[in-house]
Amino acid sequence: MKCALWLALALLLAASVLAAADKPYEVKPVADGVYAAIAPGAFNGRCNSAIVVLDDGVLVVDTDLTPSQARDMIAEVRKITSKPIKFVLNTHPHGDHFQGNQAYREAFPNAEIIASAGTRCDLETRGLARAKAAVFAAAQAVDKLKADLGGATESRKNELQEKLRQAEANLAELKSMQLVLPTLTFDRELTLNHTSRTVELICVGPAHSSSDVVAYLPKEKVIVTGDLLHGWTPYMGDSSPYDWIRALDQVEKLDFEIIISGHGDVFHGKGQFELWKQYLRDLMLETTQAWVHGASLEEAKKQVAAALQVKYTGKFPDTFALEVQGNIAKAYRFVSGGQD
Ligand SMILES: [Zn+2]
Ligand SMILES: [Zn+2]
Repeated sequence: MKCALWLALALLLAASVLAAADKPYEVKPVADGVYAAIAPGAFNGRCNSAIVVLDDGVLVVDTDLTPSQARDMIAEVRKITSKPIKFVLNTHPHGDHFQGNQAYREAFPNAEIIASAGTRCDLETRGLARAKAAVFAAAQAVDKLKADLGGATESRKNELQEKLRQAEANLAELKSMQLVLPTLTFDRELTLNHTSRTVELICVGPAHSSSDVVAYLPKEKVIVTGDLLHGWTPYMGDSSPYDWIRALDQVEKLDFEIIISGHGDVFHGKGQFELWKQYLRDLMLETTQAWVHGASLEEAKKQVAAALQVKYTGKFPDTFALEVQGNIAKAYRFVSGGQD
């Protein structure tokens, strides 16, 4: 991605995260003792969590962007049960799914933080750099708001001052945040066998990230997907596109009716799996065709976006027109061996 575009997206993300920063989760029961905690706001960088009450403790799936947001989640868990949080799962190594780990470590020092071995490896090698990049983007957001405030009309000043307050608080938190790594890792499958329920943690290998994990509750017919599948446009920056299609196929074969995904509302049924598999197939096919016929990246972006928008506008969020550009760039790099 070109630097200017990356910065624009980072600033957009920082602003939308701020807009949702102080708002509560919407906690929805989906089965007895199983809850979807839907992060506030749409299309910001925060993630959903799942709360699963076990025999003598609780499993929380994914930990949101910051420790303070994770503390809000812990407060939600305490409204549901007095049992301690014993297990935390990071489905994959993106900041919105693990940067809250610190809060769980502080509140429950004996809790195991679980991830695939690949996710822990990614966090060790790239997690720190990305956290620093997030601090940089947050600092840029503060600078931009200060500049906007300087030239603002009286009617906009109150709104911008509130945004600046949130931006400065966000920057301070990101600067002080400690990266807490998973304590328990596995390669293929790890099962929590409790009397009340069984939770199968299944590593599907490379897909949205290098090593995604889903949490499957066979008795309750619930699956927690992280970003393997969700309600926004797929983000493909770290993905392996064809492996992702294979992983969606693999998971779709499991017997479930309810999906708690990484972003957006709870799904019922498997329609979203079909949509995502078809979208990824079409993206790869159209981009490959464009590249084979000599299209440059910029030409491919125009051609492929036109084809995909006809088919998928309305099936993905309004941000699709922008996000499809990043997906085409990823597909083009993949098919061309990085020549863009
Ligand atoms: Zn992700
Ligand atoms: Zn995410």
